[in-house]
Amino acid sequence: MKLYSDPRLLSLGVVHGTTDRAMGNMRLAENTQALFDKLFIPEENILRFKQVHSDTLVCAGSLQQARQIQADALAEADGWVLKGSGFGAAILTADCVPLILWDVHAQVVGLSHCGWRGVAAQLPLKTLQKMQEMGAKGPFSAWAGPHIQSCCFEVQQDVAEQFPGCVIVKEDKKFVDLSKAIKQQLLTAGLEERNIQLPHLCTCGDKVKFFSYRRDHTKDALLTFVYRP
Ligand SMILES: [Zn+2]
Repeated sequence: MKLYSDPRLLSLGVVHGTTDRAMGNMRLAENTQALFDKLFIPEENILRFKQVHSDTLVCAGSLQQARQIQADALAEADGWVLKGSGFGAAILTADCVPLILWDVHAQVVGLSHCGWRGVAAQLPLKTLQKMQEMGAKGPFSAWAGPHIQSCCFEVQQDVAEQFPGCVIVKEDKKFVDLSKAIKQQLLTAGLEERNIQLPHLCTCGDKVKFFSYRRDHTKDALLTFVYRP
């Protein structure tokens, strides 16, 4: 089993990662169960919401609080801010950016599903702000799992104009660099460049390793999760 993950965050005791294609479509319960069984993570303690490409974030300071939030009417969100141990959260992606942020001791961890709409709505920055509201102190770090890169993310003018400085023009085509847009937000928020690791792994460009909505128009998805034991 291969998970994409960040050694800096692993060293702080936060189990996390993004699955690859070999582990199967993570929309299927049998595949997520197999994943969490292998990691000895109680799946019922991993929070999930319906993702809607919004900038809605949910904050949870304990498993109990998290369960309460999940039981409430609010059932749609695209980001989590978690403080405490014994629980975690997971998101599905297939081209969108699975972004993880953490504070100096990883006491507070943010996980967000950043499609272009989320990035344009400053979801990365808003995740960081919520973390600070939860008491997180810098320096902060960031990591992203595999997502569509500028090589493949061709867009029309209406999307391109929402990403000033992050558009690459090749012949008559426009491509957006979502990693760069996220990095800009995080640098503006005060993160140090060396603490922002957004590996260049293109979901659309690598059919062997990843699912891609853009490439295959399927609903098959990778899972990114965070969990503090
Ligand atoms: Zn690509």
